[in-house]
Amino acid sequence: MKCEECHEYIDAYIDNELDVSATILVEQHLRECGKCRQLLEARKMVVTLLSDPQVRFELPDSLPGKVRSVLPSARPRLRQRSGSRFVVPRFFVPFALAAAIAVILGLVLMNQRGIFNRSNSDLLAQEAISSHVRSLLAAHLLDVPSTDQHTVKPWFDGKLKFSPPVQDFANEGFRLIGGRLDFLNGLDVAALVYQRRKHVINLFIWPSESLQNTAAKTFTKDGYNVVYWNRDGFEFWAVSDVNGVELNTFADLEMQKS
Ligand SMILES: [Zn+2]
Repeated sequence: MKCEECHEYIDAYIDNELDVSATILVEQHLRECGKCRQLLEARKMVVTLLSDPQVRFELPDSLPGKVRSVLPSARPRLRQRSGSRFVVPRFFVPFALAAAIAVILGLVLMNQRGIFNRSNSDLLAQEAISSHVRSLLAAHLLDVPSTDQHTVKPWFDGKLKFSPPVQDFANEGFRLIGGRLDFLNGLDVAALVYQRRKHVINLFIWPSESLQNTAAKTFTKDGYNVVYWNRDGFEFWAVSDVNGVELNTFADLEMQKS
C-alpha cells in the first residue's frame, strides 16, 4: 500500500469500517511509515474532539477588538450585482481567519490541559477491542502457542524493541496459552493470550510514556470489557468478552504478581 491509499483509508480505519484484509494492509503500511502514523494520530485527535459533547469553543472577549484593529477603517459595503445576490464583504475573510486561529489555539490549550485524555483512552479501548475481535476472526490468535511463560517471553526477543513481562495465572483460572505480535496505538505491541473457561483474554503490552503505576480503569462496549493500567513502565490493556468482575480479577493478579 502507498501513502496516498493509506490516506484514503485512514478515516475508515479509525472508525473500524474496513474489512479484515484492508485493515491488515493499512496496519502493515502504518508499521513502516512514520508520516502516516503521524497522520493517524492527528486524525484521531480530531475524531476525539468531534465526539466529545462537552467540548465548547469560547472566543476570548478581546478577539472582536483585535479583529477590528486590523481591518481597514472604511465600512464594508455590500455591492449589489446584476441579480439580487450579494458579494460577500471582505470583512468576513479576516474574521473567519481569526476564528480559525482561535479554534486552533483552543485545541492546543485543551490538549495541554488533558481534556483529550479520557476520550483518547476510550478511542484506544475501542481500538483494543477491534484488535481482540480481529485476532479471533482472522485465525491469527497465536504466533507462539505455549503455556510456558519461559517459552513465550523469549519468543519476543528481537521482534520488539522491549521485553514484555510474561506471567501465567493457571492456578488462578487464567491460563496463558501463548502470544503474538500485534499493532496498537500506532506501535508494535506484545499480545499475550489467556484462556478463562471458554473465553479468550488478550493482554496488550507496550512501554509506557510514564513510569508511574496507575490503578486499573475500565471500559465496556458491545459486550466486550477492557481493563487497563500502568505498571513498572509498561501499559497493559486487557480485552475480553469475559465479565468485568473476572477481567478485573485478572488485572489484579497481573498487578500483584510483579
Ligand atoms: Zn505512508
